Amino acid sequence: MQHYQFTALDRFLRYVQIDTQSDPQSATNPSTEKQKDLSRMLVQELIDMGIEDAELDEWGYVYATIPANTDKTNVPTICFCSHVDTSPDVTGAGVKPMIHTEWAGDDIILPDDPAQIIRVADHPDLLEQVGNDIITASGTTLLGADNKAGVAEIMDAAHYLLTHPEVKHGKIRLLFTPDEEVGRGTEKVNIAKLNADFGYTIDGEALGTLEDETFSADGVTITIQGVSTHPGFAKGKLENAIKIAADLLALLPKNAISPETTDQKDGFIHPTRLEGNQDQAVLDFIIRDFNEGGLHEKETYLENQLNDVLKNYPGSSAQLVVKEQYRNMKEVLDLHPAVVDNALEAIRRSGLNAERRSIRGGTDGSRLSFMGLPCPNIFAGEHAFHSRLEWVSVQDMQKAVEVIVNVAQVWEERS
Ligand SMILES: [Zn+2]
Repeated sequence: MQHYQFTALDRFLRYVQIDTQSDPQSATNPSTEKQKDLSRMLVQELIDMGIEDAELDEWGYVYATIPANTDKTNVPTICFCSHVDTSPDVTGAGVKPMIHTEWAGDDIILPDDPAQIIRVADHPDLLEQVGNDIITASGTTLLGADNKAGVAEIMDAAHYLLTHPEVKHGKIRLLFTPDEEVGRGTEKVNIAKLNADFGYTIDGEALGTLEDETFSADGVTITIQGVSTHPGFAKGKLENAIKIAADLLALLPKNAISPETTDQKDGFIHPTRLEGNQDQAVLDFIIRDFNEGGLHEKETYLENQLNDVLKNYPGSSAQLVVKEQYRNMKEVLDLHPAVVDNALEAIRRSGLNAERRSIRGGTDGSRLSFMGLPCPNIFAGEHAFHSRLEWVSVQDMQKAVEVIVNVAQVWEERS
């Protein structure tokens, strides 16, 4: 793609200026109507490129097809997917993207709030970027590279494929989703209509990386029923649900199995909410592990601790409910090794070191994988996401475009 005039930067600068923040409190789909402002723009740009079937549905999903241009009839349909929403953690209104051209390696001070400094010491990935053009926000908002970098890269790759018919590929489906940041990115996706065999989210971090493992995740709710009495006449009778909950929390390990004491491949038990009075207390936990066995082990552990605590409160009882949240996509991807292999080959062909990583979290791809669309995550170049210090480099974005084009080509070649 040596002489190609990339369009990713120009697109990215436009997309980030549209506020598409999602809202975890909202019950509607999409959670905020304003996400459709960007989605509508994408549909129009796709139609202008010549993709006739580009459409935005009522739930805020964009579907579009790049038709196959190969004579081979057995090439699987590949989907590229990104999300249009930005994190509820930091405002995405009034984003002013800034390009730090040929960045020399100094800390980057964001002008609208000079207290916001992207320090090289805190962002070691920046060391790879000296001489590149770094895009940041201006200090008062997030940038939105998560995931508008991915959106711009997919759009540019589509533009490339449509203007380079000599590059052979099978049918390609594009999918832009709302509400990934509030964990509802696949809630209303129509997998049958998407009708793809394999997919890739373009929502990863560092150049050259591919993520094919996520946490497996459950939620646990414990409802404690104490014995309530008037406190003036409580001797020998009252069993305070608040204190029972506190006893349980006090039994959790201090130096292990928590988010603050684990990294890499270690999972955790994490209390996320506590609400109660002397009569009843409710505790929410999230449980995380890379394998399902480890998940169940942690749930059993929690249950045993709860039962131990209850021995001291003979009149009280508790109910523990486990709710499945998502599962490690690796379970599905291992059944379809070509999905990861072809992406790694595409990354290498782009002149990069291909690196497999795991995510201590979930992606839209975790859910899509279990909905029948095996879907690892390819880098988009986004860094320090969900913060005002977010950044992405133009050069990384262009490499991601190249990787997407190569993925399409590798699948055609190997079919
Ligand atoms: Zn994202």
